Amino acid sequence: MDRQHRRRFKRKEPLTLQALDIAASLKEGNASALSKAITLVESRQEDHQRAAQEILADVLPNTGNAVRIGISGVPGAGKSTFIESFGLYLCGLGYKVAVLAIDPSSPISGGSILGDKTRMEKLSRHSNAFIRPTPSEGEFGGVHRKTRESMLLCEAAGYSVIIVETVGVGQSEADVRDMVDFFLLLALTGAGDELQGMKKGILELVDAIAVNKADGDNLEKALTAKEEYSRVTMGITPATPGWDIATLTCSALYQEGLEDIWKLVLSFAEETRQSGIFDSRRRNQAGKWLHAEVRRLLLQRFLSNPDVSASLPLLEEKVMEGAALPSAAANELMDVYFSLNKK
Ligand code: GDP
Repeated sequence: MDRQHRRRFKRKEPLTLQALDIAASLKEGNASALSKAITLVESRQEDHQRAAQEILADVLPNTGNAVRIGISGVPGAGKSTFIESFGLYLCGLGYKVAVLAIDPSSPISGGSILGDKTRMEKLSRHSNAFIRPTPSEGEFGGVHRKTRESMLLCEAAGYSVIIVETVGVGQSEADVRDMVDFFLLLALTGAGDELQGMKKGILELVDAIAVNKADGDNLEKALTAKEEYSRVTMGITPATPGWDIATLTCSALYQEGLEDIWKLVLSFAEETRQSGIFDSRRRNQAGKWLHAEVRRLLLQRFLSNPDVSASLPLLEEKVMEGAALPSAAANELMDVYFSLNKK
């Protein structure tokens, strides 16, 4: 951040006034301003939230110009190695690359399974790259809202490739599918075993499967796995109409196959733009996002209402003892909330 901006941020003025300065600096590509804006987006504090909304409203016309890529795979598939290699390759081509990592496990494990700060060390030092993990929130679907908003901020700051990383756990892949253009699954050899353990549903979400670690003694196995994936995906309705799920091999460690994957992304973007799928998907995603926001805000308000939170534990107890039906108890809570709001 330049000195002038730092001085401005430090001034004791309401955050909402600083917001436009942050937005202006962010639009010039200032990475510190981008970090600051994402911190505001991630904060639960009300004044931070207001400032974040101001920044987002201001930068909205500058968003939407990046290719948004989702990457998933089981822990150990090589996601961080791949993103580091792929990101460096793209930075080398002159692209500005932002990496946002969703970590769905933190509320459970209490720690990050996406790992420590040493992940993607080289990429994080590259001047064309920006890496930001999403802290867990664990309620109201907050993580994904933040990632979406962070993605828009990165675009406004001039990042032209946005990579959203997630671990293949729970609901997170479906959420990522709803925020990206292209979804890549990083797979391991032994596709048969992996497919058995993997939720089949994931294959219905992806646009490409790259069998990673196709190097050394593992190369043959990787090629076989690729063939297996090709066969399996033939019977699957593709996530992107008109686009057959592509299967490839790569070695994130030895930087092999990266160019093919990037070419694939580019041809995907071109084809789907021509067919109109690219734009219609983004429109639908925005619509879905609105609905998700409405649900989130309603739930948040509902649960933070003092009368609801006073009644909830009692009703919960009754339901657990079998003294009341869950549906009746839920209706009673609705009455508590909505009759209060009518007064
Ligand atoms: P993540 O949990 O999916 O992020 O996986 P990591 O990127 O941490 O990789 C897990 C392990 O696999 C590490 O020891 C990597 O060095 C190794 N690895 C990742 N990519 C490759 C690859 O292309 N070839 C080989 N041989 N090893 C790899």
